[in-house]
Amino acid sequence: MTASTAATFTADDYRARMDRAARAAAEAGLAGLLVAPGPDLVWLTGYTPPAVTERLTLLVLTAGQDPVLAVPALEAPDAHRAAGAAALRLRDWTDGKDPYAATAALLDSSGRFGISDNAWALHLLALQQALPGSSYASLTEALPMLRAVKDAAELDLMAAAGAAADATFEEIRNVPFAGRRESEVAADLDRLLRGHGHEQVDFTIVASGPNGANPHHEAGDRLIARGDMIVLDFGGLLAGYGSDTSRTVHVGEPTDEERRVHDIVREAQEAGFRAVRPGAACQDVDRAARRVIADAGYGEYFIHRTGHGIGVTTHEPPYMIEGEERPLVPGMCFSVEPGIYLPGRFGVRIEDIVTVTEDGGRRLNTTTRELVIVE
Ligand code: ZN
Ligand code: ZN
Ligand code: ZN
Repeated sequence: MTASTAATFTADDYRARMDRAARAAAEAGLAGLLVAPGPDLVWLTGYTPPAVTERLTLLVLTAGQDPVLAVPALEAPDAHRAAGAAALRLRDWTDGKDPYAATAALLDSSGRFGISDNAWALHLLALQQALPGSSYASLTEALPMLRAVKDAAELDLMAAAGAAADATFEEIRNVPFAGRRESEVAADLDRLLRGHGHEQVDFTIVASGPNGANPHHEAGDRLIARGDMIVLDFGGLLAGYGSDTSRTVHVGEPTDEERRVHDIVREAQEAGFRAVRPGAACQDVDRAARRVIADAGYGEYFIHRTGHGIGVTTHEPPYMIEGEERPLVPGMCFSVEPGIYLPGRFGVRIEDIVTVTEDGGRRLNTTTRELVIVE
């Protein structure tokens, strides 16, 4: 991940992101941001530590000051190679020294700080002790839109990831399904995603027949048979940016009911897509897709939100869900993925990644949304 994003973004790009994050934190009333290894650190600095351990690695961002990255001395050479390293001060610490006191010395002892959701409690507790008057907020809750709006270079990477997922679908639709296990098709998906450039595969869902009615079904031992509907949902990271697409295929000729349910989901996906425009609320996308399914009488079988943001991870804010009133902004990327799940029978889901443009939505997945017949 680090190596490939390093090829795209410069230290100046990372510094601009860090400055933007520090300003957003100040506007949110925070004295600073404390960023642990994970997607926020990757996005802000291009740095992924070789391993996440009990040794403290922490990016400290405070408005008006140079960013500082605390790193264990033995990992300093890795940190120095990160694309964003030139845009920050590296403060390495050796075993036996107290990295928390050194970090605390940079901070307002009575401040409120945003801290990564995935920071270890070990580190947070030690910081609290070093800064007795301090308090903390979840970085994701305080700044949910931090990574949501992509710039032009990021959008190019999102499009490349989407195109690779599409190429994967064009190949998987031609492999044999009947008589093979879900897990075998999932292995094909993994191989194809990597073959088309993904360095990381996050999920390869193959949910056949009744398994399709469970949106969380991954892939198991079930033998695929003629007559099965199959939900395929796959994605991962290419050059550090995410793909995530779903298509539902059928082995042999579908029944009229199967066609009808698929048509409803396709119409719902289209309605969700058409609701995408700057200034619309996230929940408008959910409402538009959900209305089609509810009007067709299947409302109780659409059992999840319509979409989620995507970027340096495959699931992140913003969420396309009732109650999310934040507005869509050009450059946001998220899924539109309604589904219908009929317990004990079959499921249908159709998912594209969509980005917001000045004129509306642009799909980053363009394979057919018609029901594809496989063998
Ligand atoms: Zn069937
Ligand atoms: Zn998906
Ligand atoms: Zn998704």
